[in-house]
Amino acid sequence: MDAQFSTLTRIKDFVGPQGWTEDPDLIAPHLIEWRDRWSGTAPILLMPASTAEAQMILSQCHEAGLAVTTQGGNTGLVGAQIPRGEVLISTKRLNAIRSIDPVDDALVAEAGVILTQVQDAARQIGKRFPLSLASEGSATIGGLISTNAGGVHVRRHGMMRAQILGLEAVLPNGSLYEGLSALRKDNTGYDLKQLFIGAEGTLGLVTAATLKLVAQPRHTTVALLALETPAQAVELLHRLEAETAAVAAFEVMNHLGVTLALKNIANVRVPFSDLSPWLALVEFEGPNADLIETVEVALASALEAGLALDAVVAQNEAQAKSFWYLREEMSACQKPEGVAAKHDVSVPVSKIPVFLTLADAAAEKVAPGARIVAFGHCSDGNIHYDVIQPSAMSAETYKALVPQMNEAIHDVAMSFNGSISAEHGIGISRRDEFLRREPEANLVLMRAIKASFDPKNIMNPRVLL
Ligand SMILES: Cc1cc2nc3c(=O)[nH]c(=O)nc-3n(C[C@H](O)[C@H](O)[C@H](O)COP(=O)(O)OP(=O)(O)OC[C@H]3O[C@@H](n4cnc5c(N)ncnc54)[C@H](O)[C@@H]3O)c2cc1C
Repeated sequence: MDAQFSTLTRIKDFVGPQGWTEDPDLIAPHLIEWRDRWSGTAPILLMPASTAEAQMILSQCHEAGLAVTTQGGNTGLVGAQIPRGEVLISTKRLNAIRSIDPVDDALVAEAGVILTQVQDAARQIGKRFPLSLASEGSATIGGLISTNAGGVHVRRHGMMRAQILGLEAVLPNGSLYEGLSALRKDNTGYDLKQLFIGAEGTLGLVTAATLKLVAQPRHTTVALLALETPAQAVELLHRLEAETAAVAAFEVMNHLGVTLALKNIANVRVPFSDLSPWLALVEFEGPNADLIETVEVALASALEAGLALDAVVAQNEAQAKSFWYLREEMSACQKPEGVAAKHDVSVPVSKIPVFLTLADAAAEKVAPGARIVAFGHCSDGNIHYDVIQPSAMSAETYKALVPQMNEAIHDVAMSFNGSISAEHGIGISRRDEFLRREPEANLVLMRAIKASFDPKNIMNPRVLL
């Protein structure tokens, strides 16, 4: 305890009064996740304002064998950012955009910069950082890197992994990985930066990254389509891609999800008089002013071919935003309905319809009357498949069934060679299942990598492995 006390005293002296707090009221918001699924404790909150301060903190913690948890915007969905007694390091003061270069198409942001700040900075020079997800007003660059976040533009622009040119990270012993390159090509040995991406804070503390910018699309348009089946959605995706070459996002929502959004979320609107079994939200982008005509022609021919029941193209930005608002509230709208077993699965796109049929049957078997909200990134085969407690069942009874429900839904995804975590990560919520399902040879390799970066296991020690 004395060693811990003197280690923390040295750190406090180094980072100064702005760089730490032990005030429980100030620490409290960092100890709870927004859905109230995870809560924790931390003896101290450290807030380094520079890479050098982050290095000092980690070198001291390493020497004393003090475990740490790193936190960005606290929007992660698998509990990895919530400490359970570890020293908590927040990146909120690592908040500078260090540089932006329109010729290199590169922006260097520190780990605590919020995604919308990066998007705005890129927009100001006529460029774009195309990562986009519902938590973009709070999620940080460090967190998005560490979870290899996906979002709605993955089919066209890839996940976070594909959008990073370079990276700087403090290793668990305080030394620095200096890889802040803006190079598009570099075949000099192992691509070490990729190891930090998706590592969920277990290999080091990311302090900054070079992000890849793309051209700002000159024209965008958004359509909402009423569909009968998920099979129509898959066919429609390919038809619209072929006919417009402009599909940037293709999201789906089932009937119950839309119903609950209308019921539980203020200002949600749907432009159809009858609610169809599925809705698809399609965003198009392209360089030509006739994009909207191209889209309307493609939608008309899809309707004629019986691939949709109805379609509305947003007439202005406000309507486009209202379509997106509906999609973004798919998760929050479930909260008043009770306990939900949430799944972030992916399967090959062609298998989405059969996955949904089999998963519905599996869920019904575990908890008859369970209510299913299925939505997400159809164009990536990534479905957020949430199973809410049956109306007639108590929350306590359903909670006891959640592990069985998770197992059943994940078994269906795995039967198509799918994934039990398409974009949210493993964290602590999926750790046991991941360790059970992952082939032993893969785990041996991952543990060897972890041990070589973090032999004392001080970084996010309860996470992933
Ligand atoms: C409403 C909502 C919608 C979402 N939609 C999507 C979606 O469409 N697609 C998707 O992929 N995800 C989605 N997410 C989850 C997404 O993973 C997180 O929003 C985001 O990636 C985490 O960023 P954060 O800054 O909040 O990180 P945190 O939640 O603070 O941390 C997440 C993980 O990253 C680690 N970490 C954070 N910063 C660093 C750092 N600097 N160095 C090392 N490790 C670090 C933490 O230890 C933890 O393991 C959504 C979340 C919400 C709340």
